[in-house]
Amino acid sequence: MTYNTSRKSRGRKKRRKKKKGLSLVIFLFFLILSLAGLKAISEHTVPDWLADISSRTELSEKLADSAGSFLDNISPYIQEIRDTAGSFLESASSSPKETPAPPDENGYFRIYFLDVGQGLSILIEADGQYLLYDGGDRDASSFVVAWLKQKGIEHLDYLIASHYDADHINGLVGALKTVTADTVIGPDYTAQSKVYQSFVTAVSEQGKSIVTPVPGDRYLLGEGYFDVLAPLSDSYSDANDYSVVLRFVYGETSVLLTGDAEAESELEMLEKWPALQSDILCVGHHGSPTSSSDEFLDRVSPSFAVISCGKNNSYGHPAASVLERLSSRNIQIFRTDENGTITVEGTAESFQILPEKESTACLSPIPDIRKLSAYAGCFLFSRHFFARISFSPIF
Ligand SMILES: [Zn+2]
Repeated sequence: MTYNTSRKSRGRKKRRKKKKGLSLVIFLFFLILSLAGLKAISEHTVPDWLADISSRTELSEKLADSAGSFLDNISPYIQEIRDTAGSFLESASSSPKETPAPPDENGYFRIYFLDVGQGLSILIEADGQYLLYDGGDRDASSFVVAWLKQKGIEHLDYLIASHYDADHINGLVGALKTVTADTVIGPDYTAQSKVYQSFVTAVSEQGKSIVTPVPGDRYLLGEGYFDVLAPLSDSYSDANDYSVVLRFVYGETSVLLTGDAEAESELEMLEKWPALQSDILCVGHHGSPTSSSDEFLDRVSPSFAVISCGKNNSYGHPAASVLERLSSRNIQIFRTDENGTITVEGTAESFQILPEKESTACLSPIPDIRKLSAYAGCFLFSRHFFARISFSPIF
């Protein structure tokens, strides 16, 4: 047993020794493999990964830097493109620029520069449609209302406040209590005055709100139309420069209404609109020397000027310097303080100016052939006779 046992025991010991040796060999084999693998990794693979990752990071940083500076460089252009696209879309959406068909042979218009003393009020009629631009001051309100009644006008297609000074909107409050108005237009600012509040109230009582015009907007009136040329800025130090400036066109005739716009607004219009030429200019701010700059008069180049002002007014309107600027350009002048209400009536091809009263300015001897025709009767002005070039606004 023992032997057996010892033999068995020796056999077991031998097998254990063999197993230990085999395990050692396997262990050493794997150790060598592991070390070789680690060596290979340490010498080759890891540095490549790291280099690869590192170079990729550098490349990414370089790309990011380049993209950043590229975006910085093009951002002004992107903004410009956005602005251009925005203003294009704005103007495209808000201004029907197409010129309507010329008025037919039965078409007509009348413009009344009402004698409202120191203030402004202009009524335009075109083929049975009406536009009232300003309504004069408080003492003229009843006159304006009476005029509307006398003409049988119960409805205005447009009622426009050039701006919110009392000598322009007092009469509009009276008009709004007498007639209805489709569209009420006024500049985008508020005034701290009772009459402004009365105007806002009168507009809201008609269920309307004041429409702020966008420069370049075109509105139809009968077979004619008018374009909004100003105001072109959001804020002015002088409220007069907020004046809504309109260029009314009927067939071959054009009339520019400037409210009380001063030289600052005139300069903006000169920069914005290449074509300002008009046959008749309603002179800005009652003939104040702060309006009607030389450059503006040169560009508008009117044949006739109308000045709305009160007799012997305390402002000294119209200024002698403005009268000189007009007459030196051979522009025929009509004044409500001397001529009373001034009526312009015409068709698609011609118009005549009919002052209520003749004035010394109208009767003074004038060498210019155009003024001779005016002298001959405060007159009929035919565009065909003078072979004038017709103007159209370029928007
Ligand atoms: Zn005024």
